[in-house]
Amino acid sequence: MAKHNYSAGPCVLPQEVFKRASEAVLNFNGIDLSILEISHRSKEFIEVMAKAQSLVKEVLEVPEGYSVLFLQGGASLEFLMVPFNLLNTNGKAAYLDTGAWAKKAYKEAAALGNAEVVASSSDKNYNYIPKGYTIPEGVDYFHCTSNNTIYGTQIKDFPKTDALMVCDMSSDIFSKKVDISKFDLIYAGAQKNLGPAGATLVIVKDEILGKTDRQIPSMLDYRIHAKSDSMFNTPPVFSIYVAMLTLEWLKDLGGIEVMEKMNEDKAALLYNEIDSNPLFEGTAALEDRSLMNVTFLLKDESLKDEFDTMWNAANISGIKGHRSVGGYRASMYNALAKESVQTLVDVMKELASKHA
Ligand SMILES: *Cc1c(COP(=O)(O)O)cnc(C)c1O
Repeated sequence: MAKHNYSAGPCVLPQEVFKRASEAVLNFNGIDLSILEISHRSKEFIEVMAKAQSLVKEVLEVPEGYSVLFLQGGASLEFLMVPFNLLNTNGKAAYLDTGAWAKKAYKEAAALGNAEVVASSSDKNYNYIPKGYTIPEGVDYFHCTSNNTIYGTQIKDFPKTDALMVCDMSSDIFSKKVDISKFDLIYAGAQKNLGPAGATLVIVKDEILGKTDRQIPSMLDYRIHAKSDSMFNTPPVFSIYVAMLTLEWLKDLGGIEVMEKMNEDKAALLYNEIDSNPLFEGTAALEDRSLMNVTFLLKDESLKDEFDTMWNAANISGIKGHRSVGGYRASMYNALAKESVQTLVDVMKELASKHA
């Protein structure tokens, strides 16, 4: 039986998707060739790319005027592509510093041009989302991170600004409804909620591109990728194929609204246990708690070995916290079943019944 996989990324994907993907490795669509050995220019793969793009548009209700791209280099290369495409040589970018990924994004922009941190929660080890800050007038764009994978915080209300809105949605895209029209550029590494590592999803409003005074290297130029339909060079074929399968799974399940409801249920189940169990405490500010990554501590560290043995025995995997927060992190991406959350909650209750 598959483990209850709480890995932060790469992470759990639906078992049906693994099955279909493994079949395609041996014989793709009955053509007696593997998905791994066909040309990305073949009719078969062009269909996969088109299907993956149209499913992204359908599931997220992407409005007209946006391009959906599948690129490489992970979210980390987007940290650099964003300023290359949007930051003028004498312009300025504004960044919200809500964690390690946000900080890395800022660092790339600051290396290329003028970037400013408008607010930060580093004073409390990023356990909350700053609010009430101002985004300076006239900046080329504002960059934020919707979900802070490491610290377990999530933006619930995005700020209103006249600046272009750029968002790293790597760890909560497809987990809940978002109004795409409020954003000018969204990016996400595939390996949390979408598919295996290797592909990066970019959703970009076409009209914002081509406006900077920079020379953009071809591989970093969104317009070149958009014009060549994400096939400027060989795309990560398998990762895109599995993303397509995952999106089909999500659509068949009832789409984003059904998924959001399931994610809220799972998060409520675990947060309720953390709040009611005397042995545990959450690390993120209540109003900023993430539905995807739940960070929590054992109040009494001496129970660690016993708890670790118990959850391991319950077939749970991947809840060790990130080294910068410590404790535990339960990442509950779309494909994690509610039964898996119940299993963890049962282990926590059992520990409390022995010690509380
Ligand atoms: C995982 C993650 C990244 C890094 O993604 P890569 O694809 O490994 O570059 C960036 N931002 C967020 C919010 C993440 O969760």
